[in-house]
Amino acid sequence: MMFDDELKDLDNKHLRRRLKTVSSPIDPVITLENQSVIQFASNNYLGLANHPTIKKAAIEAIQQYGVGSGASRLISGTQTPHLDLESALATFKGTEAALTFGTGYSTNIGIISALVGPQDRILADRLCHASLIDGCRVSQASLRVFHHNDTKHLTQLLSKKSEHQKTLILTEGVFSMDGDIAPLPELVRLASEFSATLLVDDAHGTGVMGANGRGTIEHSGIDPHALIQIGTFSKALGTIGGYVVGSSSLIDYLLNTCRSFIYTTAPPPSMAAAAQAAITMVQSAPNRRERLWKNRDHLFKGLKAMGLQLAQTQSPILPIILNDPQQALAMSTKLLEHGIYVPAIRPPTVPKNTSRLRMTITSEHTHEHIETALHAIEAVKKGLEQTSIHFESKKVVDHSDPQG
Ligand SMILES: *Cc1c(COP(=O)(O)O)cnc(C)c1O
Repeated sequence: MMFDDELKDLDNKHLRRRLKTVSSPIDPVITLENQSVIQFASNNYLGLANHPTIKKAAIEAIQQYGVGSGASRLISGTQTPHLDLESALATFKGTEAALTFGTGYSTNIGIISALVGPQDRILADRLCHASLIDGCRVSQASLRVFHHNDTKHLTQLLSKKSEHQKTLILTEGVFSMDGDIAPLPELVRLASEFSATLLVDDAHGTGVMGANGRGTIEHSGIDPHALIQIGTFSKALGTIGGYVVGSSSLIDYLLNTCRSFIYTTAPPPSMAAAAQAAITMVQSAPNRRERLWKNRDHLFKGLKAMGLQLAQTQSPILPIILNDPQQALAMSTKLLEHGIYVPAIRPPTVPKNTSRLRMTITSEHTHEHIETALHAIEAVKKGLEQTSIHFESKKVVDHSDPQG
């Protein structure tokens, strides 16, 4: 196999990816490749990834339950922290029950293929995360993609005669690379009108959206039992693990059929205890969410004032659209020279011609962090414009393949 040729090809297209070493906790200031930088790259929106209370919960669980779970959940891997987490999560999300997984990725692979099969169809928003698309592929259901957040297009697809048995509508609460929000009330209405099931991945909404941080479903004022909700503990909740919440019968069905739940070792009890402590924290510390939104507005206004082209974001994800992957990389590299880390996001993570700098902000960034970043962006933008790169480029709308 010609791996070197393939890698060279990626290099030529400015699409090669490389790992960068972080030798510090994931705080607003990290040590990246031995350089101290202010980062706008993590999904640790509430700063919980290095929070003392949550670390303490993990350490205590290690002392009480050990480091490994020893088996899959259905054999002997269900320890008390797993059940406590699921019950806390169901209460938090306002559903009858919850089921947890090792990661959000494995949740999505398993859930979609447990809900639908080759005789069914999936209608997915075209900006759905790669893990959702992979879940669709594993399920072997027929997959149609609707234009991003376009309920008219979805209605057209739903109205078409179809030989399929079940229909699953798939979307995200807050979109991970654009930061905008799905039109959930209308999607719930369409699912009900066309007897379809609505599955919402609220990875980036949980902890962030809604008066109590319960997520985009709370933000949109929807009954949590009108849909099936999946998500992850790895973003605002600062830890790791995926989940699904819904009715008791749904959860019991998944426990019996979902292969990525059944055929894998249970996550360490310490991670379950940490995730539960994070849920408690989200509920008991609304001031973190207030700081997050204040910081988000500060950064958003500063970027807008520079005339940068931002995606239609409604969340702490602030993507600066640069279209060309080379531009995105150049800007990211230059910012790093100023001590600011913002990752360049390129295809296939985002559609072609929509490469971007994806800035994320947390509750723990200070006013000075944000001001420093804005000054650096301004300087880098000026410097690059004098070479050849222009920032107020036209938005390219590309309705080709879904990502992945
Ligand atoms: C991050 C993410 C996932 C994957 O979750 P992990 O816990 O990181 O595996 C799934 N869906 C969306 C929308 C995400 O942003």
